[in-house]
Amino acid sequence: MVFLFLSPVKYCSTSFGVSLLDQKVADLATKMFKEYYSKADDFFPTELEKREFGFGDYEKKIAYRHLAFKTNAEFKKYVVDKGPPFISYSNAHYERPDGRPMEAKGWLGSELIFDLDASDLHLPCQKQHDRSWVCENCLDSVKKETIRLVEDFLVPDFGFSEKEIKVNFSGNRGYHVHVINRDIFKLDSKARRQISEYITGAGIDAGRLFELRSVERDDGRKIKVLYGPRPTDGGWGGKVARGMISALNTGVATLEETGVDKTLAKRLFKNRADIVLGISTGNWDKVMIPNKTEFWAGVLRKMAITQSDSIDRNVTNDTGHLIRLPNTLHGDTGLLGLDIGSVKGLDRFDPMRDAVVFKGKSMKVHINRAEKFMMNGEHFGPWDNATVELPLYVALYLLLKRVAVLA
Ligand SMILES: [Zn+2]
Repeated sequence: MVFLFLSPVKYCSTSFGVSLLDQKVADLATKMFKEYYSKADDFFPTELEKREFGFGDYEKKIAYRHLAFKTNAEFKKYVVDKGPPFISYSNAHYERPDGRPMEAKGWLGSELIFDLDASDLHLPCQKQHDRSWVCENCLDSVKKETIRLVEDFLVPDFGFSEKEIKVNFSGNRGYHVHVINRDIFKLDSKARRQISEYITGAGIDAGRLFELRSVERDDGRKIKVLYGPRPTDGGWGGKVARGMISALNTGVATLEETGVDKTLAKRLFKNRADIVLGISTGNWDKVMIPNKTEFWAGVLRKMAITQSDSIDRNVTNDTGHLIRLPNTLHGDTGLLGLDIGSVKGLDRFDPMRDAVVFKGKSMKVHINRAEKFMMNGEHFGPWDNATVELPLYVALYLLLKRVAVLA
């Protein structure tokens, strides 16, 4: 089990706290984006004519919205003419997608969507690097969370089939998951909130998973034994049991992350074989802890809370959200928000290799400061105040991340 941590602030907007993009860089990127879209033919959503579209500029991911197109050709023409840095579309289908206000659109239903972003994982690496930067660990962690969302929740707990679940890279540091299923299409935002709250463990009453039972010992004496979830249980109970077994087997540090103090963590780890054996049969009484029920409830609450911030619940709850159109470019990176298909493709997916599009030429840029990173299978950086000739996709990445300027 991967433990996540709460991050207090959501950075939803693009380029938060970073300088405005230089006009020459913006013009260059727009030219490249136009050229890319003129040759691309794989960015048309299903039911295009029922979707609302929104477009961004280099400072704001959605600068204007309420646009609609009748045909793929009309949409393509618009995109090739403008070369927008961000293209978003509605998870909803509407009778009149360009109607405004929202109530005038004639809502028909919405895909269920999840937006997972590495910057919400509050990872230790993010204390080492700038918040707008994304490292290998950031990308790996958010990928694991995405796989976990699908394989630990959407498939087993909600019964969606893998072919109803589409995954795409966001183009920067996260993934978007779309569930396309007739049963959830008409759910209102209240029902969607119940889904997101279940998945993020919001309001989970860990105490209810446990029960003190009277058990008769061999000598006839009655004792109270704490029973709780087994790893084979469905829903949150099973997840909690599997999570605790995994933490017990991983080590003292992981146990401490669940809120156990060091002395107790050491004792639990030392006796882990016996405890794991107990938990696997639902007996959580194998370790001497005062106020066991409260103790385990506290640990599990902490476990539930730590899962809650990888998913932006506002996105999932919203029936009229605009989200990145798969297979379109990201204006902060120049990478493609690649449609990966099902979650099966995610294991092998490497965003810094597979989402790279502007290959070929090279370009000279001046880099203020950049961490070491991998792109298209090659190492780059670190740099501090350096002028270098780089492959076009690397130069564009650094320019759009605003850590470099044209040389
Ligand atoms: Zn990182």
